[in-house]
Amino acid sequence: MITLKTDDEIELLRNANLLVAATLAEIAKIIRPGVTTLQIDALAEEFIRDHGAIPTFKGFPNPYGNSFPGSVCTSVNDVVVHGIPSSTELRDGDIVSVDCGTKLEGFCGDSCYTFCVGEVSESVRQLLKVTKESLYKGIEQAVPGHRIGDIGSAVQTHVESYGYGVVREMVGHGIGREMHEEPYVPNYGKRGSGKMLKNGMCIAIEPMITMGSYEIALMPDRWSCVTQDHQPAAHFEHTIAIHHGKPDILSSFEEVEIIEKQQH
Ligand code: MG
Ligand code: MG
Repeated sequence: MITLKTDDEIELLRNANLLVAATLAEIAKIIRPGVTTLQIDALAEEFIRDHGAIPTFKGFPNPYGNSFPGSVCTSVNDVVVHGIPSSTELRDGDIVSVDCGTKLEGFCGDSCYTFCVGEVSESVRQLLKVTKESLYKGIEQAVPGHRIGDIGSAVQTHVESYGYGVVREMVGHGIGREMHEEPYVPNYGKRGSGKMLKNGMCIAIEPMITMGSYEIALMPDRWSCVTQDHQPAAHFEHTIAIHHGKPDILSSFEEVEIIEKQQH
């Protein structure tokens, strides 16, 4: 069942998502070669709890009965999603996708950003740029009267024109009091197909895009999903509300992008 949110509920969702945005900005400040993803995780957990919220990913169960140990997912290079924070140091030229979820006053925030560590190759920078562009192309389609397939089609058309792959196994989702609600929001699809979009729907749109083949594999830790060809993958995610006839982006990359510009 898809629950439509009231204006008040959308504002609560915005608060939870702006806390995710602020957390990602704190992370942006410390990303550099030598930093570990466990350090990123500790910073995120402290920042989220200091603001009266809960990191929703911590303890989240998978189908194998394992709880996610981190407060954020940190997915490095060929890890597409659900990377577990570890003591391995980030190296110059790496990329790391940090997916962050909060629960604040009963509502969920969910947003992801792929960061560059030091000097990253031009080809990988392009993968990140195009993936982020595809997110906004998907968001543009999120208006009442359009369908879920319009979002996926816009994402897919954009990234495939660069020869990139769209991960099939993982998709965006409705969001509200629960992190994952209906409907599912694939990053591929046909225009005019799927459920009709309506005012009050709140969804996380999250292209997971691979440099090469879109085929992925689950690592023995039963969380990390890697590309089978070990080429890099990017992941950008915003939570949005369909509100007053248009998409209203509840999360934000604004602060992260200001910090990125200062660093490069
Ligand atoms: Mg997420
Ligand atoms: Mg999500």
